[in-house]
Amino acid sequence: METSEQARERDDTGQVGPDRRQVLKTGLTAATGAVVAGEAAAQARRPEDLFLPEEEWRARMTAPDDGKRYGWVVDTRRCFGCHGCEVACKAENDIPLGNYIRQTFYHDHECDSGSGVARIMVPMACQHCEDAPCIKACPCGSLHKGPGGSVQVNYDTCSGHSACKEVCPYGAIYIDPVANQAIKCHNCTHRLEVGLEPPCASTCPSEALYFGDLNDPESPVSKISALLEIENPSGKLATLREEKGTKPRMRFVVDDEHTMEAWEPKIPREGESYAPEAYDVYGWGEPGWEEESR
Ligand code: SF4
Repeated sequence: METSEQARERDDTGQVGPDRRQVLKTGLTAATGAVVAGEAAAQARRPEDLFLPEEEWRARMTAPDDGKRYGWVVDTRRCFGCHGCEVACKAENDIPLGNYIRQTFYHDHECDSGSGVARIMVPMACQHCEDAPCIKACPCGSLHKGPGGSVQVNYDTCSGHSACKEVCPYGAIYIDPVANQAIKCHNCTHRLEVGLEPPCASTCPSEALYFGDLNDPESPVSKISALLEIENPSGKLATLREEKGTKPRMRFVVDDEHTMEAWEPKIPREGESYAPEAYDVYGWGEPGWEEESR
């Protein structure tokens, strides 16, 4: 006589099948194994594994011979987080809501003096690396050095492989979901061509962003670099994640109250992009926040 256990095991055709719980258990074990194996493979894959052979990117890593070397200085002591640079960037480059090629990060820390909590604001964008990983990984040959060494995308050929995003150590690229192309800071070369600065630099009301030709001693970026090194030795110039070997063309002014070690963990990494969550402004209004901040 058929047991109730066998009845439960009967399949849709009326046949008594194998132990389904056993099938499910076996399938679950296999699926779990596949997930673990996938995670292990992803962990084992290094950004360098996506780099193409050198002959495929060497020419694109060479900037036009225009005698210029564009670079940036970001003074984290002066930025007060107005986000004006981001608004100017979005307006200039038609960056849609929820996407960014420039973003201001922040880090709260206790003051050494014990006088309360201070906030460091850090305006961030593409570092225009001299040894740019995004160029090395681009399979369609779109990422390249433009005027003054600006790292740019050729939109006639970019097909949104996102390898550039996977290898950028600073999360400075996003893939536009509509155009399916890589979007990043390009130093607003269209403005440079007519003698204008990138709008983020000219908009900054606190004079925290300096851009220009590092080969020109009269450019804003050269002047502030000289000033910091000679007249203000307390403000040091540091490069972000120097251990990546990318030789960034963006340097940050840091001092004992604005250390790079404090805010560096907040900056996106390989495979990431700037995201709206970085603002986390709603946390500013947690219960008791206003009282504590007085
Ligand atoms: Fe490329 Fe990222 Fe370096 Fe910019 S910061 S040049 S996107 S690797």
